[in-house]
Amino acid sequence: MLLHLMVQEELDLPLYQFHDDLTWVRCPECGFDYQKVQLPIQTFSGEDDYKAPWIGKGDLLVIPFVGECGAEWDLCFGFHKGRTATFLRIKKECPQAHLGAQDY
Ligand SMILES: [Zn+2]
Repeated sequence: MLLHLMVQEELDLPLYQFHDDLTWVRCPECGFDYQKVQLPIQTFSGEDDYKAPWIGKGDLLVIPFVGECGAEWDLCFGFHKGRTATFLRIKKECPQAHLGAQDY
């Protein structure tokens, strides 16, 4: 429950709580909950020297998602000076979001 609230508030990622211990990830743009997680194939070594492809100093872990709504986006964790930042990156905008389909 605590992780659910932290992710939802910090990332502004809409989540849908299905059970006390199970929460569905939703499209960050339209809210549709059919989102398939991909293998976290992209890890970048920043060597603690701003070499990874993000604004922080250290390593970056990217977990890609592909939504049945048509969106493609990444959940990212980046290491920076002892702390880990988390953020979302939209790779392909959701075609449903522009149709007002926010009420899945
Ligand atoms: Zn969507």
